[in-house]
Amino acid sequence: MPGGTDQTLRPFLWRAERMHPDVEIVSRTHDGIERYDYAEFGGRVARLANALDEAGISDDARIGTFCWNHHRHFETYFGVPDSGRQLHTINPLLPDEHIQFIVENASDELLFVDPSLLEKLAGAADPDAFASVGQFVVMGEQVPETDLDATDYESFIAGRSDEYDWPTLSEDRPAGMCYTSGTTGKPKGVEYTQQMLWSHTMATLTPQGLGLDDTDVVMPVVPMFHVNAWGMPFTATAAGAKHVYPGPSPDPADLAALIEEEGVTITAGVPTVWLGLLEYMNDNEVDLSSLEQVIIGGSAAPESVVRRFDELGVDVLHAWGMTEMSPIGSVARLKDGMDEWDDSDRYAKRAKQGLMVPGLEFKVIDEGGDEIEWDGEEFGELWVRGPWVTTEYFERPEANEEDFEDGWLKTGDVVSVDPDGYIEIVDRAKDVIKSGGEWISSVELENALMAHDDVSEATVVGVPHERWQERPVAFVVASEERESLKDELLDLVGEDYPKWWVPDDVLFIDEVPKTATGKFSKKDLREEYSDESLIAGKAPEEAAPESD
Ligand code: AMP
Repeated sequence: MPGGTDQTLRPFLWRAERMHPDVEIVSRTHDGIERYDYAEFGGRVARLANALDEAGISDDARIGTFCWNHHRHFETYFGVPDSGRQLHTINPLLPDEHIQFIVENASDELLFVDPSLLEKLAGAADPDAFASVGQFVVMGEQVPETDLDATDYESFIAGRSDEYDWPTLSEDRPAGMCYTSGTTGKPKGVEYTQQMLWSHTMATLTPQGLGLDDTDVVMPVVPMFHVNAWGMPFTATAAGAKHVYPGPSPDPADLAALIEEEGVTITAGVPTVWLGLLEYMNDNEVDLSSLEQVIIGGSAAPESVVRRFDELGVDVLHAWGMTEMSPIGSVARLKDGMDEWDDSDRYAKRAKQGLMVPGLEFKVIDEGGDEIEWDGEEFGELWVRGPWVTTEYFERPEANEEDFEDGWLKTGDVVSVDPDGYIEIVDRAKDVIKSGGEWISSVELENALMAHDDVSEATVVGVPHERWQERPVAFVVASEERESLKDELLDLVGEDYPKWWVPDDVLFIDEVPKTATGKFSKKDLREEYSDESLIAGKAPEEAAPESD
């Protein structure tokens, strides 16, 4: 017999409003710190849903957001999907061409945009690509000067009712969407149904997942444009926890102040963010006494960071996931009894990507197509499946064929599994670079470089970098080598791509090493240049964004 209702997001907010009406939601915005409680939040979410109806937005519309982490963005997390629509979060750090592709592909009817991102959006808003967008709403109380025809959010929802007749939705209804650039080619859309977001929320609520409850004060630093900030706005609401949103481009001082002043107990973000905070703490007194846990994911958590937080009395939880997985897959929690292990064994375990959270299954397939032994030595590609793992990309049949098989997602991560069931990423089958939690497409950079008349071959690889985890370095075979060529090439890339995509260095070589089948062998180059001191250029301080 089926249950009485489908698995949808609405009951999470209903419960928080009714059972935790006074719990706070705190937000650092362009105008300073703003705060209210779940009772007021619920009313504003209803006003937003009414405003969308009254603006003539279709009841199954896809709605884009181009925003950092703040309370208004959080209101769209419930107002959009609970009214039957689909929340499409867009990464503002992408090159304009990707943003145009994404908006056109998703046919967004309305776009919410932050004041500080308005100029970036206006620059990318090619009329053809943005033809579906009938309205722009700026997340604030007024609209800064812009060529876009925009309304401000507070006027948009003003005067609407605090009540809304929430529809009974099917769990198969698309509720969210996020594009991933994690593999080659154009970004691929991943749709999240109501059921995927519900089951991800329930699994991450458990102690085997993130284990949140109503005593927690949750601060997602991971951007809300990256896979719903790892689902934390939903999970924290389901738990009745206090939310703290760090707003536009928070720096370590902003994060430290919010932790101290709001009593944050759990926070989450990519390693670069925490390296920045720890560095800031070398010269500044920061009281981390409220902080119980830092969730680190998006890239491997450096053991040094885990150890440093331990010394400060803060537990690090290393997590692995993907856009295709809503996103959380595994967490490196120690099993019962492992607490007694000696230091080095415990740290080695916690530095792994960990154990799959309950509800997911995985297998690891080697090059011969066989499943590997769980001996911590053999490795192969990680395949996963489960209720919150997608089985297809939005309108991309050719990519589906490559990345999915019989309901399994082929992750492109190459892993070993130890006898305790902990996975460890040892390599990446995907030809991409992840810098500060953001993807850089090596193929696009190679094409840009090879467009230069004096370049006969070019390949771009990610080399390890202490702060950004990886930075791109170009290897070029030039038909005519001259001193100015390197600068010309870097300028060429900089014309079409954001600054943080520009390689840290260009190295001239006689020939790009090839595999037996004639493909560029990046593995060889990566190994040869794995020592970052060999690379002349260094990423400028602000080169890569800090997100995931
Ligand atoms: P995204 O879809 O942008 O969330 O990126 C997912 C990819 O990021 C994974 O397939 C991994 O390659 C990488 N990744 C995510 N979490 C981790 C982690 N904890 N350690 C190493 N790589 C990670």
